[in-house]
Amino acid sequence: MARSLRKPAARCPICKAAVVPEHRPFCSTRCADVDLSRWLGEDYRIPAVEQDDGLPGRDGEDED
Ligand SMILES: [Zn+2]
Repeated sequence: MARSLRKPAARCPICKAAVVPEHRPFCSTRCADVDLSRWLGEDYRIPAVEQDDGLPGRDGEDED
């Protein structure tokens, strides 16, 4: 717990507002929720292809 260095004014990664200690590292619970939604991929869908090769295990197995 080294607290020798002063932390610069933290900014909310969501809205870039000043971070409130109670809601660190965000400025509010709202932004925290937004970030959580991003992680869950519900409110922030990443344009990625979710179609993989399907279920693995039935490709190179030795079958008679
Ligand atoms: Zn915010």
